[in-house]
Amino acid sequence: MKSIIERTRCPFCKNKGQQLPHLPLYLHCSVCRLAWVKRFVIPTYEEKYYQGTSPLASKLLKPVSTFFYLIRSLYVGTEQKKLWIDVGAGDGSFLKTVRAEKKIGVEVSASARRLMKDAGIATLTDEEFLKKNNLNADVISFWHVLEHVPNPWDYIAASKKNLIPKHGRLVIGVPNIDCLEYYVFGSHWFHTPKFHIWENTPVSIELLLKQYGFKVESIDYWSPEHHLPCLLQTFINASTGSQGALHRFIRRGHDATFRPKDAFWSIFWLTVGSPIVILFWIAGSLMHKSGTIVVTAAHEKKKN
Ligand SMILES: [Zn+2]
Repeated sequence: MKSIIERTRCPFCKNKGQQLPHLPLYLHCSVCRLAWVKRFVIPTYEEKYYQGTSPLASKLLKPVSTFFYLIRSLYVGTEQKKLWIDVGAGDGSFLKTVRAEKKIGVEVSASARRLMKDAGIATLTDEEFLKKNNLNADVISFWHVLEHVPNPWDYIAASKKNLIPKHGRLVIGVPNIDCLEYYVFGSHWFHTPKFHIWENTPVSIELLLKQYGFKVESIDYWSPEHHLPCLLQTFINASTGSQGALHRFIRRGHDATFRPKDAFWSIFWLTVGSPIVILFWIAGSLMHKSGTIVVTAAHEKKKN
């Protein structure tokens, strides 16, 4: 039997949820601005088959992703780590680039775990990770994972048990619904797909982390890997009326869903329109209203 969850109150503030403008399936909290799907069936995982090969566009952009992975590492400093755990690690392409003696990829997909094992990366399923204690990781990272899981608090609780108390760092990349893109473009905002259970804000993430004894150390609003490209896709969505066409083209290769109109507007916003996209990126970052954020946190120091 499928379990359905209906949530009428904010899990962090216990405030009654109100209808979210532009997105009829969501409620939101007027205090922390977290938005959530009103009613959802607990997602059953369908195996996404990782083949270890990628489409041409993705191959051509490999230097760009390597550069972005370097930026991800810089959030926790350049020194060599003993243990780095990446949750939602996919085929391990990010973990392969980090400087750590031991790496663990937490991943639901069996084919992706197999690819990581072949590359010498230890793996855990989500269930195994949630039960672990005292792994003593220097870093635990979540790149666009927490918005997809019904129980983000369990992942934060598991991180608390498995990070080294003294210097362990948690790094979380998530979409931020308290952003210019959502206010201006509504449902054309790139991060409004059906599979996001949660749409966080800096305040909601801070509340979640605080409940489990973490203290936010920094919030990056520029996040070049996610903020800028997602903004580009939002402009394309608003021009074409389609959702995520360029993103799919890069991730999966050419298919029938990439129409001439999508190609035209993708090229337009990548070339002549790009100064507008970049200005929007700068404005959103400076105003702390970016479409994605990267939060770093550490164990809250106990007061004597
Ligand atoms: Zn709230």
